[in-house]
Amino acid sequence: MVRAIVGANWGDEGKGKITDMLGEKSDIIVRFQGGSNAGHTIINEYGKFALHLLPSGVFYQHTTCIIGNGVALNIPYLQKEIDDIVSKGVPKPHILVSDRAQILMPYHIDFDAYEEERLGGKAFGSTKSGIAPFYSDKYAKIGFQVSELFDEDTLVEKVARVAEQKNILLEHMYHKPLIDPKELLETLHEYRDMVAPYVCDTSLYISNALKEGKTVLLEGQLGTLKDPDFGIYPMVTSSSTLAAYGAIGAGIAPYEIKDIITVVKAYSSAVGAGEFVSEIFGDEADELRRRGGDGGEFGATTGRPRRMGWFDAVASRYGVRMQGATEVALTVLDVLGYLDEIPVCVGYEIDGEVTKDFPVTAKLKKAKPVYEVLPGWKEEIRGITKYEDLPENCRKYIEFIEKELGVPVTMVSNGPGRHEIIHRAQA
Ligand code: GDP
Repeated sequence: MVRAIVGANWGDEGKGKITDMLGEKSDIIVRFQGGSNAGHTIINEYGKFALHLLPSGVFYQHTTCIIGNGVALNIPYLQKEIDDIVSKGVPKPHILVSDRAQILMPYHIDFDAYEEERLGGKAFGSTKSGIAPFYSDKYAKIGFQVSELFDEDTLVEKVARVAEQKNILLEHMYHKPLIDPKELLETLHEYRDMVAPYVCDTSLYISNALKEGKTVLLEGQLGTLKDPDFGIYPMVTSSSTLAAYGAIGAGIAPYEIKDIITVVKAYSSAVGAGEFVSEIFGDEADELRRRGGDGGEFGATTGRPRRMGWFDAVASRYGVRMQGATEVALTVLDVLGYLDEIPVCVGYEIDGEVTKDFPVTAKLKKAKPVYEVLPGWKEEIRGITKYEDLPENCRKYIEFIEKELGVPVTMVSNGPGRHEIIHRAQA
């Protein structure tokens, strides 16, 4: 059985915690897209961890963690994350890396920074992890597949060819130091030795595991609104964040994905530039940011303060639809306990007309939020384990969101800890 955990919003919905929790019951956990550009925050008996590249299952001895072919694989970073968790007392995890994954090269990180520098005030707010240059090269067919590290003749020829092309840009466009092909080849030899113990045909591995009745969890990064096709283009990431892509990025048949748990945040937050209709500012935003998440809303990768906003039903309904959500996990609800009233964005006013359907970016730029205001519950809800024990106004808030989403809310997260979750029986 394959299950996916994905985000409906701009990322940071709290997927890490839900993945960690469901990882306990999974045999295999797969990262299928993205790279080390976003992070999950996980709190468990070993401590607090910000994972960027490793799947959340690394804390369990019974799980196999897979870096799928769809991932932007930063090999030294992978090594660093493994060493880091092991040094904090976590037993060495069982990790496999797809032989078809492509390698995030040192120059991808450089090009990411150079391009942001060149764009100046018009920059994308990239995390400078090299993700956009990586995926550009992958689809321009000048990327390096892990398997190519083990084919010396091809590697030597390709390094020379790619360095020649990159050096034209470095010299004439960015005026930066050039790539030395000899040095690059040596780096790739080091990468080969680092990654060798983990490399295999992970698609075949998963296929065989499924035949044996094993449980597979696909772990998504970011959320629908950062998808290159369906998000707020161009302020998006460079690989698909949708569950559908999980089939490709993990190398499994699409019909194998039976359950798509879509994580929705009880309010909105976003890192980086881009349209954000229900955004709030000033003291109101500062207070929510300070109280939000676990110790404040600051990016797990960059430490940047997150932009804050009220729950956006238009964006979230679209977010769950594009994921194909079969169930919703609603997170960080506990944070809203201080509010007398909670505005919820239920429509967008665009050129004098109100719509409930999420539009393309050009229209989104003109959208103004239409709010409905719900009463707050003014109570601490952490520690509550049964849905019926939640304050009435809190349940009403959840049920309002559920109606707007049109997908059952089966889990309500009321604290950052692994077991701070309320499972909700469906009528
Ligand atoms: P991801 O990118 O979707 O995995 O998001 P993160 O893992 O970065 O989660 C965002 C933050 O919210 C982290 O600091 C989590 O510890 C925290 N968090 C997750 N669920 C809850 C919750 O229900 N309540 C509170 N207060 N914090 C939560």
